[in-house]
Amino acid sequence: MNIADYKGVWVFAEQRDGELQKVSLELLGEGRKIADKLGVKLTALLLGDKIEGLAKNLVAYGADEVLVAEDPLLKNYTTDAYTKVICDLANEKKPDIFFIGATFIGRDLGPRVAARLSTGLTADCTSLDIDEEGRYLLATRPAFGGNLMATIACADHRPQMATVRPGVFEKLAKDESKVANIEKVSFELSENDVRTKVVKVVKEHKDIVDISEANILISGGRGVGNKETFKLLQDLAEVMGGTVAASRAAVENGWLERDYQVGQTGKTVRPNIYIACGISGAIQHLAGMQDSDYIIAINKDATAPIMKAADLAIVGDLNKVIPELIAQVKARKENQ
Ligand code: FAD
Repeated sequence: MNIADYKGVWVFAEQRDGELQKVSLELLGEGRKIADKLGVKLTALLLGDKIEGLAKNLVAYGADEVLVAEDPLLKNYTTDAYTKVICDLANEKKPDIFFIGATFIGRDLGPRVAARLSTGLTADCTSLDIDEEGRYLLATRPAFGGNLMATIACADHRPQMATVRPGVFEKLAKDESKVANIEKVSFELSENDVRTKVVKVVKEHKDIVDISEANILISGGRGVGNKETFKLLQDLAEVMGGTVAASRAAVENGWLERDYQVGQTGKTVRPNIYIACGISGAIQHLAGMQDSDYIIAINKDATAPIMKAADLAIVGDLNKVIPELIAQVKARKENQ
């Protein structure tokens, strides 16, 4: 492998049912910065069936070029079909860097592509950069149970691959005036390449709010004490127009579903207001919410780590503080 032959930054533009996943747009935002640092092209890779219309959105969110691979066999994601098309294209076009969103699909696709291309992949990165000489992608992620951050470089193999969870980066402002090259690529793919058949897509209808999209989050931890007291948080969320979330301890106690967990093994959130109630602020929790615009912590213990991370730290029993907050927000609303 001649590393000098590899150029450009690729982002896998994941779409489901013709809808682009927001993490792909966020990756284009971060990919733009990396591509600009290296002075190279940012390419979005779009696979599916009859999805070419999505390409202009990828351009508006930062891509210099979109490679579109369309085929009925790519309509629903399958590991075999997507891996084959992507690896064939990567072998032909030789990207230097390749980012994939850490969604269910990305977590399946990324390692398979990396293994087939005999390269390395750093999963669930929390920051991405380029070294001073512009040679290596520096991919940072929590390691050893989140107790330290490891920065990983892939020295001898290309492309340098990384996955990033939704909500870690911000997408760029949409610029519909941007023009770029949209290329329909040709590739070989037959039914024999795909060992699985999608017989039926069964969608789970869950009434779940995506906490990574919420502007106001009222998040509860072990200090909430029990499921009944979680209703207090729900009441506060209602008066403030927010959504409830939880630490892993609260989820493990069965007080809220797993979809609402914030942190390293939950979701990454960056709301305008994050109210942490009875949460100590373990590093694995902070990893998922420390980029929130304004953090309010309610805790009995003034020395809890969350209090240092907070813009406003309220020392007190949440059973007293939250009802008071609800009363004050209500009173203010009534006086408006
Ligand atoms: P605790 O740490 O027990 O804190 C409870 C807090 O409530 C204390 O600070 C206490 O002072 C306060 N309190 C008690 N009673 C009251 C009261 N009446 N009023 C006000 N304050 C009160 N954790 C996550 O949250 N998300 C993750 O994604 C995650 N991933 C992990 C991944 C790995 C690999 C590992 C090893 C751990 C992970 N954890 C995660 C767990 C994490 O280390 C902590 O154990 C967890 O975050 C603790 O949750 P907590 O803050 O709710 O509980």
